[in-house]
Amino acid sequence: MPVSTRNSQELFAAARQVTPGGVNSPVRSFAAVGGHPRFIARGRGPRLWDADGNELIDYVGSWGPMILGHAHEKVQAAIIAALEDGASFGAPTAREVELARLVLDRYPACERVRFVSSGTEAVMSALRLARGATGRKFIIKFRGNYHGHVDSLLVETGSGLLTARSGSGPLSAVSAPSSAGVPPEFASLTLVADYNDPDSLSTLFTAYGPQIAGVIFEPVVGNAGVIVPTAEFLAALRELTLRHGALLIADEVMTGFRLAPGGATELFSLQPDLVAWGKIIGGGLPVGAYGGRAELMDQLAPLGPVYQAGTLSGNPLAMAAGIATLRELAENPPYTALEAYGKALEAGLLEAARSAGAPVTVNRVGSMITAFFTPGPVSTYAQAVASDTRAFAVWFNALLDEGVYWPPSQFEAAFFSASHGQIELDATLAAAGRAFQAVWG
Ligand code: PLP
Repeated sequence: MPVSTRNSQELFAAARQVTPGGVNSPVRSFAAVGGHPRFIARGRGPRLWDADGNELIDYVGSWGPMILGHAHEKVQAAIIAALEDGASFGAPTAREVELARLVLDRYPACERVRFVSSGTEAVMSALRLARGATGRKFIIKFRGNYHGHVDSLLVETGSGLLTARSGSGPLSAVSAPSSAGVPPEFASLTLVADYNDPDSLSTLFTAYGPQIAGVIFEPVVGNAGVIVPTAEFLAALRELTLRHGALLIADEVMTGFRLAPGGATELFSLQPDLVAWGKIIGGGLPVGAYGGRAELMDQLAPLGPVYQAGTLSGNPLAMAAGIATLRELAENPPYTALEAYGKALEAGLLEAARSAGAPVTVNRVGSMITAFFTPGPVSTYAQAVASDTRAFAVWFNALLDEGVYWPPSQFEAAFFSASHGQIELDATLAAAGRAFQAVWG
């Protein structure tokens, strides 16, 4: 039965008067699923309460950071303690050293880390460093991977490979912008390959090898829904980048500290040259970071010629939240429990879909999960976008009416936290079953 959301609707109307589309990041607008967003009043543990007092089990988790759940008492206490010392100084503080150690301890391939204020900034800066260090201009990214709203990475998913493969004459400008405001010249610096397709990567290296500064990738895709990398693909990434003198850049903004203590790098024994982080390392406050070997990172200003800076980089409150979160993850590792929850959620969703006759594929790694509305399998971007987004939207809205807050897009990963337990699991699966019946029953 639909619940009352009058306050959310009124707030959304008010927000649209003052903010484009009423939101500060597009996916929050519910454009992909219809209806209007819930305005969130507060959160605790695995639950949110919206502006009308409706209680929701949260599978968005602020899009990844809230691995400990909302309003975790140690994180809150750390933020309050830092605030009492002053919010920002624009000068170095001990907390930056401590968070850097906590990050580097888990990523032995990295010797230095630089903090910024968002995942986008981390990626943008890592790409500049890759270009500065190699003296090359092209970056390869993968279709359906998202790395923030970096100008040159906002390229059409349809561009790239076809042109590169057409093969006749000199190859140029292979990507077109996917956003107004991005000059075609910027987009043309990005080459697009297919995820889990080593041949598409090697085709680009054959055509552009000596000009490729780096390859950036999501080690588990979250931004097309969850797509799991094949071992063959991961091996090709490292082999081809090494062979052609390009840097391998792991975008662990979503996966870092979530899939394992050392993220996807540890889980898949990766050997990236540069790593970008965000989300969890800020404990819910705005933080990004990038890191790598000293010899590479020391090319950044003030030591080297690659410029990058930030007024609020290393902000004391954000560092405090990150330190408390990473310490808690080290002292009370939730990874076994997250895996158990995920396994049960995955099995339960599949069973509920099967009972309703719904053609659904569930992809999951640890605490990242997607129910694709397609018979599957889904191991490529093309297979992901074959999903029935209309059916997903009906399911999503039925689930929301039942008090389960799933990401409002077929092509986003759902996240759960260390605070999700049996009560949330049972309630989610019961609601999901009824929601599948609402679509196919
Ligand atoms: N990289 C990945 C893999 C992401 O998922 C995101 C955001 O979701 C970003 C980069 C950009 O991070 P931010 O939104 O903090 O700028």
